[in-house]
Amino acid sequence: MDLYYKSTRNSNLKVTASEAILKGLAPDGGLFVPEKLPVLGKSMEELKDLNYQDTAYEVMKCFLTDFTEEELRNCIEKAYDSKFDDEAIAPLVKVEDTYYLELFHGATIAFKDMALSILPHLMTTSAKKNQVKNEIVILTATSGDTGKAAMAGFADVEGTRIIVFYPKNGVSKVQELQMRTQKGANVDVVAIHGNFDNAQSGVKQMFENQELAKELADKGYQFSSANSINIGRLVPQVAYYVYAYTKLLANGEIKDGEKINVVVPTGNFGNILAAYYAKNLGVPIAKLICASNDNKVLYDFFQTGTYDKNREFVLTTSPSMDILISSNLERLIYLICGEDSEKTKELMEELKTTGKYTITPEMKEKLADFAAGYSTEEETAESIHDTYQKTGYVMDTHTAVAAHVCGQYRAKSGDQTKCVIASTASPYKFVKSVMSAIDAENANADEFDLLPKLQEVSGVPMPQAIKDILDAKILHNLECDADKMKETVKGILNV
Ligand SMILES: *Cc1c(COP(=O)(O)O)cnc(C)c1O
Repeated sequence: MDLYYKSTRNSNLKVTASEAILKGLAPDGGLFVPEKLPVLGKSMEELKDLNYQDTAYEVMKCFLTDFTEEELRNCIEKAYDSKFDDEAIAPLVKVEDTYYLELFHGATIAFKDMALSILPHLMTTSAKKNQVKNEIVILTATSGDTGKAAMAGFADVEGTRIIVFYPKNGVSKVQELQMRTQKGANVDVVAIHGNFDNAQSGVKQMFENQELAKELADKGYQFSSANSINIGRLVPQVAYYVYAYTKLLANGEIKDGEKINVVVPTGNFGNILAAYYAKNLGVPIAKLICASNDNKVLYDFFQTGTYDKNREFVLTTSPSMDILISSNLERLIYLICGEDSEKTKELMEELKTTGKYTITPEMKEKLADFAAGYSTEEETAESIHDTYQKTGYVMDTHTAVAAHVCGQYRAKSGDQTKCVIASTASPYKFVKSVMSAIDAENANADEFDLLPKLQEVSGVPMPQAIKDILDAKILHNLECDADKMKETVKGILNV
């Protein structure tokens, strides 16, 4: 049966999965959602011996029904290959009584690789299916992780170009080097003189500029987006929750049908929404536990039913979760208001004009599957330190936020259900914060000097992604003022 997608802000709009992937965002500003959340045709028991690739196929075919088996398998094969440094792709590591689902074994050692290594292939396949002849130009603004993962994913993918903008003084040393050394004939990266918001609004303006779109079309180009509102990023993420469950089952850690809890360090609400979709598919998940850092807008939302972004933005040691507008929450809002696109639109417009909205008591009742918590900077550091002292396992700052919230939830609720924590980055990516948490003296050391030290304490070999940047050539030197982004793009594309 064919599954169509509609906009959260207009139920009358109906597109295929491949059209939704090409468009990214609906023209009314809404997000594409499946007309009906799919259910897996198979039991967990039947899937338990499948490898990651075959599991991904079983999951993705439920969502992307206009892709043929050959197309989908081809995308999966190209994405989840030796770019990952672990054959399991997403290995599940047991530490005491908790399971860490390590989503950071891809090219850029953060969980964004799970989706961004396949999105380019889904997109080029979608372009072919829809007779798009233009070259697709991906424009992305990044605060660090997404940019590199998107560049690595799209590098040398035929029929695509990618241009990434990052704030010149707003990313870590490792992150900047990762981007400026990226190979690929179709890849460009530009440091802008401004902050992430400037980069983000510059990109948005280009997307909305009809005149520019026409100029580009005349030269055979069209823009698309690789950020996490694209359904082509969400769907591949559902797969690893199915995989985590079937591996627990295969390893005899749980009985068939036994429920588990998942804890997800959350920013834009994409990862945890994928877990919610997995639950709907039929994975026995009891609670979805949303973990925030000091930017605890989501925690407050789950407590009170009011989403309020009018607050101070806090810079933390888990920067990929420093976010006050969690875009993907709109997809959950749509579900809990009974798929009412008018109501969703109204709430999102309120958010835009006043910075906040409140859901109805009936809607709040439908959030019973979720729990939420947050971790302060001290608690996050403590979590890294204590877990290392007790077990020798070293985790990154984002994962540590989730680990803290997991412990807090268990203590408060007394819930004994087994927990899977989504582990979203390698500790090597945030080496300074991680090593400082383990030993305060490291706080004064140079970031690069700490890399071999981390190898010593963790016993985990330095990932190739880190070795690569240590002696790689700088290939990108472009910079521009925040108000010259359009001219820069035209220059790059020769338009
Ligand atoms: C992007 C990111 C997150 C947040 O994920 P969302 O899907 O945006 O909620 C958490 N941790 C890391 C390391 C990330 O890069």
